[in-house]
Amino acid sequence: MSLTSRTLMEMYEAMRERFGHQGWWPGDGKLEVCVGAILTQNTNWRNVERAIANLRDGGLMSVSALHAAEPERLAKLICPAGYFRVKAKRLKNFIAHVLDSFGDDIDGFLDRPVSTLREELLSVSGIGPETADSIILYAAGKCTFVVDTYTCRVMMRHGLVGPEDGYEQVKELFESSLPEDPELWNDFHAQFVAVGKHYCRPKPKCDGCPLEPFDHDTGDEEDCW
Ligand code: SF4
Repeated sequence: MSLTSRTLMEMYEAMRERFGHQGWWPGDGKLEVCVGAILTQNTNWRNVERAIANLRDGGLMSVSALHAAEPERLAKLICPAGYFRVKAKRLKNFIAHVLDSFGDDIDGFLDRPVSTLREELLSVSGIGPETADSIILYAAGKCTFVVDTYTCRVMMRHGLVGPEDGYEQVKELFESSLPEDPELWNDFHAQFVAVGKHYCRPKPKCDGCPLEPFDHDTGDEEDCW
């Protein structure tokens, strides 16, 4: 096991010991997880839950129903998630892509090799790497590491990545260092979100943080992407 692998696993154990297993992703069924991953951009999960509840109550939680929905109605229902017109368009783009090749069969769409799925998701207008990887890891249950601002910030402050590293480099570091286990990768990302929310904010609160015993430097740093 390399030094980076050992360090990452020790960091994971420290976070898990503090926060417990996070049991992500919230969402009832694979389509809801996909919808949640698209709606959660730039908002908090409580708002996404309200938007998802509206879609469910409106009878829209199927690929064909979302596809058939009037854009105005869709935008109104997802309004709690913010940026609702943009997000309605992204959701429509994603749904059109699924419907085109798999109809209502979201399982069939997701049950493909990671590289194929990722390439297709990234080809959908409005779906970036973090959303694509969230769908693959949390809806499809397949190994791809999700990187977000929390992850990047912790990794930079602990000297494991540099400001020149982009999304793909950080993702590659995890994927080449961790055992290929979707359960582990699922909870690892969730632990970074927990540490980011409670301690590793733009102004860090290292005192009492579960990662405090690991080498870190919160001095001069560039912010994450
Ligand atoms: S708050 Fe401090 S100790 Fe905790 S993860 Fe951030 S830099 Fe590390």
